[in-house]
Amino acid sequence: MRLLLLLAALVAGALAKTFVGHQVLRIKAQNNDQISQLQALESLTHLELDFWTEPAHVDIPVDVRVPFHSLQSVKIYLEFHDIEYSIMIEDLQTVIDAEKQEMEFNQMKERSSGTFNYASYHTLDNLYRGIDAIVSDFNSLVTKQQIGTSYEGRPVYVLKFSTGANRPAIWVDAGIHSREWVTQASALWIGYKLATDYRKDASITSLLDKFDVFLLVVTNPDGYSYSHTSDRMWRKTRALNTGSLCVGVDPNRNWDAGFAGPGASSNPCSDSYHGPSAESEIEVKNIADFIRQHGNVKGFVSIHSYSQLLLFPYGYKCTNPADFTELDDVGKAAATALSSLYGTQYKVGTICSTIYQASGGSIDWTYDIGIKYSFAFELRDTGRYGFLLPATQILPTAQETYLGLKKIFEHVRDNPY
Ligand SMILES: [Zn+2]
Repeated sequence: MRLLLLLAALVAGALAKTFVGHQVLRIKAQNNDQISQLQALESLTHLELDFWTEPAHVDIPVDVRVPFHSLQSVKIYLEFHDIEYSIMIEDLQTVIDAEKQEMEFNQMKERSSGTFNYASYHTLDNLYRGIDAIVSDFNSLVTKQQIGTSYEGRPVYVLKFSTGANRPAIWVDAGIHSREWVTQASALWIGYKLATDYRKDASITSLLDKFDVFLLVVTNPDGYSYSHTSDRMWRKTRALNTGSLCVGVDPNRNWDAGFAGPGASSNPCSDSYHGPSAESEIEVKNIADFIRQHGNVKGFVSIHSYSQLLLFPYGYKCTNPADFTELDDVGKAAATALSSLYGTQYKVGTICSTIYQASGGSIDWTYDIGIKYSFAFELRDTGRYGFLLPATQILPTAQETYLGLKKIFEHVRDNPY
């Protein structure tokens, strides 16, 4: 039996992609020439670089995962061009191993205590159990609705918080990019908190007396599952691409808003591949269909990580939206509320002015179809751990994000349109 277990562990270990010797470099471009040199570096596909943040503005550092085989070339390139960099993560696999160990320990504790542990990362099955637990604990307020299935056939569930029929709605989703694990974990806690706050917290009570809230905890279940079993750094869907061996589409480049424009790739091997057509990804189409059929969604919030940003349209173009002043004010109020808990600082602005031009994103689509209050969060941190945020930061992240969300909810509630 022990031998079998050992063999199973070895096979599982052998199947998962390894990041031994991969480093994450933090690069600081000083001028636009250096930005261009970094963009040129990004186009050298044989280096297999994974840009965690994109080279776009001199004031935003560029974090790049560099595989062991490319380390020397990249460092020589940076030094040749006099570009400043530091090593943020010395060996990525060590951090991934520590995360896995912590998760297994937390799950052991959870099994012995019998209660869901919000302060841990979870497999997809466990997150789905967490969703069910909220539904059964708050059955007069919360129901679970399946809005479709993923490419690989997994159910996609939204939690519906509702106290009456025919209400306008606010939508919140997390984890459209699967490797952003703190987003799914935070979203589940936020669901639990919303449920417990009804009839306890005046703001949430008056919100849920007027509005339904829909919460999609795992937007990209195939990718999420794959990020646990095979490749911790997986971002895209798991759709097969005709004519390419590379798998997956970036589901946040796949919406029908400036589709296939700047900031999205036409290369199926790229992590920002926009896909063959808008809404080609079933995970995107499910949500778009839901929003269209509902017809009365007044707020839409999509949760990503990392960088500590609160963003609003546009991304596919660099002109400000008609509601710029109002969205900017709401965003700043939300960021202030968020930072009141632990001092976490957020930048607020349009996608294009704050990070980079990126087409086919969800909140551009929702804004253009008339959902005025469309926002995207980029949660903690600013790059020390990036996508591998320690589980000890899940609850603080979720708690502060909840305060930011509440501000947005209050504004939607008090400003009918
Ligand atoms: Zn993301």
